[in-house]
Formats: sequence, C-alpha cells, structure tokens
Amino acid sequence: MDSFTVKAYGTVAQDIPLEEMHIQRREVLPKDVEIEILYCGVCHTDLHKSRNDWGGSTYPVVPGHEIVGRVTKVGKEALKYRIGDLVAVGCLVDSCRTCPNCQKDLEQYCLNGFTVTYGGTDKHLGGSTYGGYAEKIVVDEDFVLKVPENVDAAAIAPVLCAGITVWSPLRHWKVGEGSKVAIIGLGGLGHMGIKLAKGLGAEVTLFSRSAEKAADATRLGADHVVISTSDTDMKSVAGKFDLIIDTVPYDHDITPYMHTLATDGTLVLVGYFGDFEKKFSTLPLYMRRSVVGSVIGGIAETQELLDFCGKTGIVSDIEMIDIQNVNEAFERMEKGDVRYRFVIDMKSLKN
Ligand code: NAP
Ligand code: ZN
Ligand code: ZN
Repeated sequence: MDSFTVKAYGTVAQDIPLEEMHIQRREVLPKDVEIEILYCGVCHTDLHKSRNDWGGSTYPVVPGHEIVGRVTKVGKEALKYRIGDLVAVGCLVDSCRTCPNCQKDLEQYCLNGFTVTYGGTDKHLGGSTYGGYAEKIVVDEDFVLKVPENVDAAAIAPVLCAGITVWSPLRHWKVGEGSKVAIIGLGGLGHMGIKLAKGLGAEVTLFSRSAEKAADATRLGADHVVISTSDTDMKSVAGKFDLIIDTVPYDHDITPYMHTLATDGTLVLVGYFGDFEKKFSTLPLYMRRSVVGSVIGGIAETQELLDFCGKTGIVSDIEMIDIQNVNEAFERMEKGDVRYRFVIDMKSLKN
C-alpha cells in the first residue's frame, strides 16, 4: 500500500524519553480523510502507554488521541468533509461496524475490538497505529468528527478524550437539573467533568486531595469541594450523590466514596482499571449502590458533545506547550501539576 513519511514524536522503549522520529501514514483510501494536525492534547494515558504502565505497549509509541486539525486531502468516495474543514480525531479510528455494540453507536465497546488511535493494530500498513503527536494523520471519514468553528481549536482538543470520557457516563446516567454529581480528582478528566455536569444542570461536588485546588474548582463550576483526606469532610456528604465519576489514575480505596452515594447511586470508574490492592469493602453496596467502569464514548456521542461545546462555549482550560517540552509535561502531569490539560501546538514540530 502507498504511504508517505511524516515527522512525529514518540518513544522507542518504556524508559526512554519521547524524541523526534519519522513514521509512515497511508495514502488516502477512497473513504479516507488526510488531516494536518494543529493541536493535540496530552492525556494521562499517553504517559501510561509510553511507560508501559499497563503492559502490552508496542514500540515505538507515538501517543496522542485528542487531535484537532484541518483536512488536507479526501478520498474519492469520502463525502463528509472538504479540504480546509476543521475536524477532530479522538481515541478510536476504526471498529468492526457490524457487531451489536457497533450497531448501537457503541464502537468503544466493539465486540471485535475497536482500533485505538495509537498502539492498536494498523489494518492497512501492518504494525502499530500512531497517534496525534505527528504532522498528519489519515483516518476513515466515519471516525472523523466535525469541530465547531466558534470555539478555540486548541482548547477543544481535550474534549476528544478527557471530555467524552466523562460525558458518556453523564449522559448514560441521565444527569440533568436536580442531579447530584461528584467528580474524584481535579485533573484533565476531572475539570471537564465539573464543567460538563454543571453545563447539564447538575449540582456538582469535587473530591480532591489538594486543598489548594478548591478555588479553581469553584471557578470551574463546582458547587462544593470535599477534601478526600479529611474524615469530617467525607462524613458531611454521606448518602448524597446520584453519580460519582472517579478519575484517579492509580490504585486507591473507593470504599469511603461508596458511602457518599445515595441509594441507587452509581460510582463510575474511568481512571484506574486493574486489581484493587487496597481494601475494597462490599458493605456500602447493601444500599443498592453500584460500581461500574466506562471507557471514552462512541463516535455519535462524541459528535453530540462537540456540538454541545459549540452551543455552550464549554472547552478545556489548557496550558499550551511546544512538542519539545512534552517529557517535562509528562513529569508535571504525574505530580498532578497541570491546570488542567497540556495541549501541544503542533507548529512546534516544524522547528
Ligand atoms: P490527570 O490530569 O493526571 O488527573 C488525575 C487527577 O487524579 C489528579 O489531578 C489528582 O487530582 C488525582 N490523583 C492523581 N493521583 C492520585 C492518587 N494516587 N490518589 C488519588 N488521587 C490522585 O489525569 P487524566 O488525564 O485526567 O486521566 C485520569 C485517568 O483516566 C488516567 O489513568 C487515564 O489513563 C484515564 N483515562 C481513562 C479513560 C477512559 O476511557 N476510561 C479516558 C481517558 C483517560 P487531585 O489533585 O484533585 O486529587
Ligand atoms: Zn485519553
Ligand atoms: Zn464492533
């Protein structure tokens, strides 16, 4: 298959920093769209995958799944986009499209495994898929999203992962006026969780370890802040929430949070998937409380969110960086020192 070379940033092994490299992209197929990448958000998953935190990373890893860019070429049968359109690509670039979940617009739960934007199997060129820390990407038009032109193109990039990951549970559990929602952790996902839950009309509480983030949480729209390390604070919200979205990236004890759910309340894990080494008590479940997991969202749901952002003006709070500073950004993210999403200005890749 015909391909072309683009500049990218990635890592060749788990203990090596990201560096400039060259990768191949396929020439557009009839249904493909070629996109020049303008901005790419930095997700905590980029760090996990680069460092092989979850095992199974295949190198080189070129991360990036919060991609915003302009269409530079379209295939003969690609009818949805024109050259120059502002578009986006999130965490998935393909799925089987035929299984019951794909048929219900739940490509993120494709029973045959969806193709992740980076680190998945490239069905066309073989090897791994490469993400948005690159000059260009080529994606089937059905997995390309339309970006509203009235919002800041850099600040909307994090919506493609951080945003949709919290939006999907907010919508699935029908959050609206009168809902009591809590978000655990004020990072990339957390700050979008506050904004979007508020945008849907909910009363929003932030659980944070970091008292110094309280003022920011209020500015972002939180009605209350609960310091999760304070027993008194935790007790003050016992039995309160209809929905809690837990964005903490590492193993932690969810039992104290379970006690803050109302009857029929649900705690949705989106941050950490793996064994709980920490204590997990089923005791709080007797009040008909649930714990579930959720990953990103489907293509239609992501478009719904982008349109909602266009209508409401909700975008991410970002700190723009050059790609040459991405390793430092990873280190700051690891320490929780990000307000609240790094976005790479991809112009810097030309330097
Ligand atoms: P992030 O920006 O680093 O934010 C995570 C926040 O969690 C931190 O700001 C911190 O908030 C809190 N935190 C960090 N370490 C903690 C610990 N050991 N104990 C308690 N709280 C801790 O990360 P992110 O980009 O939002 O991603 C969060 C997680 O979601 C990552 O694991 C990522 O891989 C995952 N993710 C999942 C999906 C999905 O589809 N399910 C999609 C995207 C990302 P405070 O300082 O306020 O406590
Ligand atoms: Zn992500
Ligand atoms: Zn499928």
